[in-house]
Amino acid sequence: MLISVESHEAQKGRQRLRALVDFYLGVHSAPEIAGQEVNTAAEFARALRETGLDVTEHVGGHGVVGVLANGPGPIVLIRAELDALPLAERTGLSYASGIPGVMHACGHDLHLAAALGSAQELAWSPETWGGTLVVVGQPAEERLTGAEAMLADGLFTRFPTPAVALAQHVAPLPVGVIAHGSALTLASAQVRVDLEGESAHAALAPWSTNMVATIGQVSSLWQEVAARYGALATMTAVTAGSAANVEAQTAELLGSARARSLTVVDDVIDSTRASLASLSSARATLTVTGAAEAVAVDPELAADLLSEHARIFGPTRVWSRYATNAADDFSALGRELRSGKRVRLGYWMFGAVDHDVWRAAGERTGAADAPAIPGNHSDLFAPQLNSIATAVVALTSAARSQLAARTLRPMEGSTS
Ligand SMILES: [Zn+2]
Repeated sequence: MLISVESHEAQKGRQRLRALVDFYLGVHSAPEIAGQEVNTAAEFARALRETGLDVTEHVGGHGVVGVLANGPGPIVLIRAELDALPLAERTGLSYASGIPGVMHACGHDLHLAAALGSAQELAWSPETWGGTLVVVGQPAEERLTGAEAMLADGLFTRFPTPAVALAQHVAPLPVGVIAHGSALTLASAQVRVDLEGESAHAALAPWSTNMVATIGQVSSLWQEVAARYGALATMTAVTAGSAANVEAQTAELLGSARARSLTVVDDVIDSTRASLASLSSARATLTVTGAAEAVAVDPELAADLLSEHARIFGPTRVWSRYATNAADDFSALGRELRSGKRVRLGYWMFGAVDHDVWRAAGERTGAADAPAIPGNHSDLFAPQLNSIATAVVALTSAARSQLAARTLRPMEGSTS
């Protein structure tokens, strides 16, 4: 009879992963939208403090910064986001959101668990590395305002200024896959259009503002202008009117535009504003509420991280030319410092789709990226829990590769 004895190390690893999954489940079931991440921030801060980091809260809103200083060496920042989306979860999972109309549909809860896991791995093995780890819990990513708010509140001046900043994002890819690329995100701006016309009896429609028709016009205009610039834009939310026989006097539209760079996005916005000025049915005001440049990964760093991930996960699990239309204000951290040096950004995506689901979707649609799978921002988005392990390893190995390497001194009396 074969007796399998799990090593002490393996047992400890399993317990740590179980605790991280519990942390994830807690965050997932109690999501908070951008700007309201009070409890999520407090939980993340508490967990980092328990791990031994020096933690500061309320940085740029609900931002959390944890510092783990471990002697001389490079300063490496890892970042995860705190906010969820105003979306009602329909996954039916036992741990689904308990907050009506709010859902972690973008995987920020996974990112937080992975950042915590990496902080723990490094905090619990101080003899293997040197330098300083800065762990950031960033608020309001979904509004593309949180990173700028943290920088304005001294992220790079009140805390150790990093040479390298790292972040990762879950994507509709099979569990275990890590995807690198130079165009992982696009630049994006979020806008609000306020319309103001005349309220009137619906019977006067031919002579008054037809607000709903105007909303349609504005929405089409936004898309058409973007298409002229090779950009992608949609209006995604609208508030107007309250009765079947009263013309609404005001309306509010929310939407976004995305393109390769913010210069193109700005062109789309300027051109749309010019067209809106000649609308005859209502006065229109377009306001930019948040914006982020595309994440510009440092090419040398990206090559280093790609080879590190390929070494750890094996080359078939690491994709090198992935691209998406998503945006992430992590880009703001790649700024030039007063010293003239630039913070080098590293960024990659990891999969969380069950392999059978992935295969079935691929066969159904015949598409390589299986768009039939409910992805980020879908109310059916349900990442696999075992993606947390991959995300922890991906982030820890990336951070470790940029910190100072220290080899263990052989023990006294050791013979090999
Ligand atoms: Zn998102």
